[in-house]
Amino acid sequence: MSTGSSPPAPKPHEDNLVALSGRAPVPVLSIVLPMHDEAANLDRLFAELEAVLARIGLEHEIVCVDDGSRDDTYARLRRHRDRNRRIKLVRFSRNFGKEAALTAGMRHAAGRAVVLMDSDLQHPPALIEDFVREWRAGGQMIYARRESRATDGPIRRRLTRLYYRLYHALSETDLPADAGDFRLLDRVVVDAVNALPERQRFMKGLMSWVGFRQVAVPYSPAERHAGASKFGLFRLMRLAMDGLASFSTLPLRVWSWVGLAVAVPAVVYGLFIAVRTLVFGVDVPGYASLMVTTLFLGGVQLICLGVMGDYLGRVFAEVKGRPTYLLAETAGFEQDQGAQPLDRAAAQ
Ligand code: UDP
Ligand code: MG
Repeated sequence: MSTGSSPPAPKPHEDNLVALSGRAPVPVLSIVLPMHDEAANLDRLFAELEAVLARIGLEHEIVCVDDGSRDDTYARLRRHRDRNRRIKLVRFSRNFGKEAALTAGMRHAAGRAVVLMDSDLQHPPALIEDFVREWRAGGQMIYARRESRATDGPIRRRLTRLYYRLYHALSETDLPADAGDFRLLDRVVVDAVNALPERQRFMKGLMSWVGFRQVAVPYSPAERHAGASKFGLFRLMRLAMDGLASFSTLPLRVWSWVGLAVAVPAVVYGLFIAVRTLVFGVDVPGYASLMVTTLFLGGVQLICLGVMGDYLGRVFAEVKGRPTYLLAETAGFEQDQGAQPLDRAAAQ
């Protein structure tokens, strides 16, 4: 794998290809935008993003992944694409989730560097300039580190902190604190992440697992421009569990220690009761302690079974081998998929 860290004028043969084929120029920078019901944010998002990209001045593409939106996100995206051909579109057949949308975006992006960012303007596009500067300085993964969590509610903030601590204790790879999905990845990192075969993808974890030269850039997230967050408490918990289960087997292994911790005192206590019975005779009362012990052990065993069931479910999902997402259509890529009524109408 080459270390393509400094950004790079297109290679001569790429220039020739472009000249010969008359195709769009090869992008240096790809912006990947996952979108689920973000129609109300698009105009402002593209206005700000395009201004920043014009300032940066690198050849670029904007890869929008419509993750099963139910509003008119895709129709509006098409209108933006008619205006700006650097905007490319990927549409899922239904909602597959943000991790799947990021995965699809990274697979479709052609740039030497790929920027992942939210489409609700919580990630200020201006930060991309800092990303590119760090990338030019040799960074291979430049991630935005949140200086404040003021945009999150108090419960979410507390749970997040607790989660990072738990993750740190359980997992072999660490999640850098306060790093979100807003980041720039060099092509080597994108290729490495794309090559990972797992289907349930916890992107933050995968990014930290692959390593490379990582650089943090501080920022304060803005408030969401329009609409509401799609990550309610339940969805966040599921993501959190996905993250832990993908990067740690400790929840599976811990039960032998729990078992040992219960069994050893039980043997000692058993011996104690046997001796006591021999010396003082049979002691009849004990209903309460029996009940507590039975319920406690029953509870521990059920939790253990539940954790095993969770991992088994994940193994089952991987073994079935269903893809992470299904495409309904794409627009702007060399081999576009699916029905494209607007393009076809234009060609006739
Ligand atoms: N998103 C997505 N699929 C989903 C949920 C969210 O592509 O199923 C996108 C969403 O459109 C946005 C980004 O992921 O661009 C972050 O989502 P959101 O703002 O709802 O999350 P939060 O900022 O609260 O973490
Ligand atoms: Mg958001």
